[in-house]
Amino acid sequence: METVASGVHRHRDGLVNWYAIEENGAVALVDTGWPRSWGRIEAGLSELGRSPSDVVAILLTHGHGDHLGGAERARRETGAPVRAHRDELERVRGKRKGGSSFALVPKLLPHLWRPASFRFVVHAAAHGFMTPRWVQEVMPFEDGETLDVPGRPRVLSTPGHTEGHASLLLEDRGVLFAGDALVTADPVFGRKGPRLMPEPVNVDTARARESLTAFDDVEADVLLPGHGEPWRRGVASAVERARAESR
Ligand SMILES: [Zn+2]
Repeated sequence: METVASGVHRHRDGLVNWYAIEENGAVALVDTGWPRSWGRIEAGLSELGRSPSDVVAILLTHGHGDHLGGAERARRETGAPVRAHRDELERVRGKRKGGSSFALVPKLLPHLWRPASFRFVVHAAAHGFMTPRWVQEVMPFEDGETLDVPGRPRVLSTPGHTEGHASLLLEDRGVLFAGDALVTADPVFGRKGPRLMPEPVNVDTARARESLTAFDDVEADVLLPGHGEPWRRGVASAVERARAESR
């Protein structure tokens, strides 16, 4: 685990990140990696001197297989509730039409001649992306809600990558978990720097671009993306670059 802010830790799980927020011995997870990530989550907790029973919340930015992967196992092992945006519940439960991993395949096929795209698909498949473990029970959160869990994250609704994508802001710690609303590396095409996720893996890229306005009033030094390295030069400068990239 890499400590990226006060009481905030990152695990780079192949091409995706998940995070742990600590407060008074309790832990909230932000995303859970791939379907086979539970062992790495357990190891990460023990590195922090914590055990699964210290986990009190499992927060998901969205319901893609590289973010919700370990959530169902984590829910069973820790007893903590899994939470996601109200508009994302169906996807997280595997009930959304077109929400399966296979739905992304035809969109990615035309790009497989690119080495980065080919690598992503092989990497994702090897990590169980094609067989997601959907979450059996998930509790909704709402736009603007402040969650009573470690770090007291505030929910910022940022749809576009998926219907109910949400970002989480730790106001006191100056940290924004942007999920796949704004990343610093595009895992599909291998491009670096703050940007939106690429068109083929978004439900609605124009909407994703509009959702960047949710970050306009955010004053946080550290942006923690779903993919790529932490961005420490302020959320505003990351948003500016992502907008310039997506013009
Ligand atoms: Zn995603």
